[in-house]
Amino acid sequence: MSVNLLDLDAQGLTRFVAGLGEKPFRARQLLRWVHRAGETEFARMTDIARSLREKLAERALIAPPRVLRDGVSADGTRKWLLDVGRGNAIETVFIPEAARGTLCISTQAGCALACRFCSTGRQGFNRNLAVAEIIGQLWIANRALGSAPARGRADEDESDARPERAVSNVVLMGMGEPLLNLDHVVPALRLMLDDNAYGLSRRRVTVSTSGIVPMIDALGEECPVALAVSLHAPNDELRNRLMPINRKYPLRELMAACARYLKRAPRDFITFEYVMLEGVNDGEAHARELIELARAVPCKINLIPFNPFAGSGFTRSPHETIRRFNAQLNAAGIVTTTRRTRGEDIEAACGQLAGRVRERAPRTFGLARAA
Ligand code: SF4
Repeated sequence: MSVNLLDLDAQGLTRFVAGLGEKPFRARQLLRWVHRAGETEFARMTDIARSLREKLAERALIAPPRVLRDGVSADGTRKWLLDVGRGNAIETVFIPEAARGTLCISTQAGCALACRFCSTGRQGFNRNLAVAEIIGQLWIANRALGSAPARGRADEDESDARPERAVSNVVLMGMGEPLLNLDHVVPALRLMLDDNAYGLSRRRVTVSTSGIVPMIDALGEECPVALAVSLHAPNDELRNRLMPINRKYPLRELMAACARYLKRAPRDFITFEYVMLEGVNDGEAHARELIELARAVPCKINLIPFNPFAGSGFTRSPHETIRRFNAQLNAAGIVTTTRRTRGEDIEAACGQLAGRVRERAPRTFGLARAA
């Protein structure tokens, strides 16, 4: 069976070419052709010896997920609907801004964690995405948007001028819980950071988690990148109701894991995501509890206006409530921002994006609902 080279990071590719009797530098050449140039035809890899090209054509292929639809919204947001087999589809979203271009990618088809405010969670879990399906989302976006080398360096900040490559930042914030697919997420992260592939700095790659405590530690050990945590409630009683995973990993353990992570992280703060649900988690007392929690870990808080979906049972907090909540946190010295609602709110919290994909897929893309 042919090996999909998109499934292999530098280490895997080195092992693969060694199996063909080739030297390690061939792996670096291949990485550049596959990821930098977005090439799929071995015959066009002109600096690779013909004999190796022939071997590769027999034993390998470069197969990203199939693009079902590719659309650009009025505000410049671009979305790809990708087929990941057996009736499952995932969406990848590119969000262009003045100083950066952010790609939001998925790591699982569906999600097992059943957060109550998330339509993906309501639809259940299908399977983990393969490395090729995770990195394939960046591969597709880069090929479509431009392939000039990224300028990612560890000392860059987000305020830096925009890199030449359209995708300057990646967030693993689409469908699924990345830390429950760590075996495939880590090689994909390594490819994002690899100078022969995408060359993004660790600060420009963010993993978003609902709070899988042991896996936060594992990510810190294996491939520390920026970390966002979907918090959404300031106490265990409410978080247990909104996010069942909190019963397994309550807030005290989660905060301790965040503090441990910061010892290895490329940034000196954790981003806490907090979806604003009217009458549920948006009161003055909630803000006071959140301030106490936030003082335990260096952090920034990102308030997310809820994106309602049919049957959710929640509504978005009114604009004035969000403004007051934000001001209360800022006045207490907690750096807090409210996520801008774009044309289609594609920057929503972990899972909300994917939920909308499924909600919209039949209408927008003329596709049967994913399983
Ligand atoms: S919010 Fe994230 S972790 Fe929770 S169910 Fe949705 S996709 Fe899963």
